[in-house]
Amino acid sequence: MGTAAVEQVRPGVWSISVPIPNNPLGSTLVYLLDSAAGPVLIDAGWHAPETLAALEAGVAAAGADLTDIRGVLVTHHHPDHHGLAGEVRERSGAWVALHREDAEVVRSHRRSLTSQRDDSRSRTIEALHAAGAPPEEAEALLAQHEALEIALPALPDRTLEDGQRTDVPGRDLRVVWTPGHSPGHACFHLPSEGLLFAGDHALPGITPHVGLYEFAAPDADPLGDFLASLRRVAALDPAEVLPAHQRRFTDLPGRVQVLLDHHEERFTEVLRVLAEIGPLTLWEVAERMTWNRPWAELAPLMRRIAVSEAAAHLRHLERSGRIVTTLPASREPARYGAAVA
Ligand SMILES: [Zn+2]
Repeated sequence: MGTAAVEQVRPGVWSISVPIPNNPLGSTLVYLLDSAAGPVLIDAGWHAPETLAALEAGVAAAGADLTDIRGVLVTHHHPDHHGLAGEVRERSGAWVALHREDAEVVRSHRRSLTSQRDDSRSRTIEALHAAGAPPEEAEALLAQHEALEIALPALPDRTLEDGQRTDVPGRDLRVVWTPGHSPGHACFHLPSEGLLFAGDHALPGITPHVGLYEFAAPDADPLGDFLASLRRVAALDPAEVLPAHQRRFTDLPGRVQVLLDHHEERFTEVLRVLAEIGPLTLWEVAERMTWNRPWAELAPLMRRIAVSEAAAHLRHLERSGRIVTTLPASREPARYGAAVA
């Protein structure tokens, strides 16, 4: 992507690109901050030997050793960020910190990964039925899902709260809670250097995925949270944004406006479809939305992600009173229609 594997961003601030095996995203940008008490990492990368080797080499190029790492601040629980955190802790005795809400997700994932598989199978089948998916979709999805190898995520030693000053001695690095891409997604703000470590909250060339979380509360509105979190980081107006993928960038308010406009267009699209041919099931809405490729070409796992995004859009529209949801008495899927103005 035109980014060197290791770059110095500011005195004592380094960017280390580490690979995500077999993934079109390509790499995670891990950041290293020197501190009076040893280096701290922001994110760790995917749990794979080649990623660990790249991280080790990157930390060495920044003049440190993996065994010196004092702590790992994880932006969110996804495996391309949190994956290696446990391994780094084992090598160095570092603490691992996640926002409280994502620490809760890690606990839920560990419970379901260590209990019988049958439970997650039936939950998936149930969720697809409730969305109005064709019955054959469930088998195809489960086959794809079971081929994925998911490592047991490491439990954090510390949890983070919004506004908290992180444990990086000599630096005023603050937690900015930015729910949306995950319930406990956090950015880290270093005002003295004008830097925002943005995780996946704002990326220069990709719209972060925002779906209805697997363990979401019945009234959760992740997309509403995401849009509010975007406005919040835009107001910080950092000189430079250090995202977890692609490349560093400037003009965060400009990028945020593009993302806000993108979702506004999707809302308009959903409302138009519902006004023309509603009420529709979640699946029928997702099929009619614009994705990065035609619906028929999306693999089952990508369709599931798309359906989750469609659900997040519907939830936000429902919460703002722009659509009405009909819950049938039987075990039929819910239907969504445009609210009459
Ligand atoms: Zn990511």
